[in-house]
Amino acid sequence: MDDKSLYAAILGVKDPWGVEKVELRLTDGEVHIWVALPAETLWVCPECLAAAPIHDHRERIWRHLDTCQYRTLVHAQVPRLNCPAHGIRQVRVPWAEEKSRFTALFEALAIDWMKQAAIATVAERLALSWDEAAAIQARAVKRGLARRAATPARQLGIDETAFARRHRYVTVVTDLERSRVLYVADDRGRESLDRFWTQRSAAELAAIEAVAMDMWEPYIGSTRAHLPEAEQKIVFDKFHIAQHANEAVDRVRREEHRTLRAAGKDWLVGTKFDWLRHPARFAPAAWRPFLALVRRTKLKTGRAWVLKEMLMAVFEYVYPGAAQRHFDDWYAWAVRSRLAPIMQLARMLHRHWPNVRTFFTHRVTNAGAESMNSKIQKIKLLARGFRNRERFRMAIYFHLGGLDLYPVPFTPRS
Ligand SMILES: [Zn+2]
Repeated sequence: MDDKSLYAAILGVKDPWGVEKVELRLTDGEVHIWVALPAETLWVCPECLAAAPIHDHRERIWRHLDTCQYRTLVHAQVPRLNCPAHGIRQVRVPWAEEKSRFTALFEALAIDWMKQAAIATVAERLALSWDEAAAIQARAVKRGLARRAATPARQLGIDETAFARRHRYVTVVTDLERSRVLYVADDRGRESLDRFWTQRSAAELAAIEAVAMDMWEPYIGSTRAHLPEAEQKIVFDKFHIAQHANEAVDRVRREEHRTLRAAGKDWLVGTKFDWLRHPARFAPAAWRPFLALVRRTKLKTGRAWVLKEMLMAVFEYVYPGAAQRHFDDWYAWAVRSRLAPIMQLARMLHRHWPNVRTFFTHRVTNAGAESMNSKIQKIKLLARGFRNRERFRMAIYFHLGGLDLYPVPFTPRS
């Protein structure tokens, strides 16, 4: 095999293209490969596949995978055709996507690496600028989103996730069954979600059976405005409710701790996380002293904790009627508890109860979305932060969108 056939094989160059010349530039540490066409090739317009005459040629260069340590560049005079219907069109080459300055194999390698490492690291290893590497990722996402078939999701999770300090958020919509991110929007306002809804087809909207979310007015308002029969489909999920209940208990504890401290009592010192822990997650040896603390002389924190646990037991029921009775009992007690944070929680849940109750129809929770949230936090660690929200959105789609990211000419071996 001579160097031309070797490179033809390496590049995956097929008829009518062939390798014309290979040049090793030792001082530059580069290999240059010229790919060319036989003069008599019959060309077809890439749009309509009708035969079209050559208008002119354009010299183009693509970066390919390195040959050992040598930076490898592919040159070709790419014909531009004059199609009667479509005007001047450049023909597609089999080794690269239309506007890329990299071969498909090179982009595929960069994509594989970016799944494992930060863009800055990949850029350095592949001798790319940061912008070039980020552009490969952005193109991959764009390609993936364009290719994603409208496989309707039945269960959605809507959640916010922080992308930086000082309350900067994005809204993430997840397909809970397939565990993939469908949509990422800036902020967590009503408009953030509106754009997701308006991009859905009627068939996609009709397929949606349940939407798990927090009791967050902008999301509720947007969903009600765009999703038919939203009243039966919105589910305020138990993970967010547990978060609210834990916050209420913690507020009671903090206040009581202050009062006790002032009176010289340190009963609540070091107990913060005990009150937030699920009873099933206590070590047996720790459970007994904790219960003793709960029962201790009318500790407010103890009462708040019991109310929280009683509330969460609502979700153990099979029948909505039984859950309803349990909730009514709980509510009656909670609103009389004289614990302000618990009373606030009770009133909020009472107001939203019809869409807490939908849980017993759909059995959907944001558990999937919550684990998605922790995956997103891992991406943040991998990237060591993001320059802006756009980069953050891009990375979420890239890693968690379940997208087919590779350039067209490349067929991954799997
Ligand atoms: Zn045409």
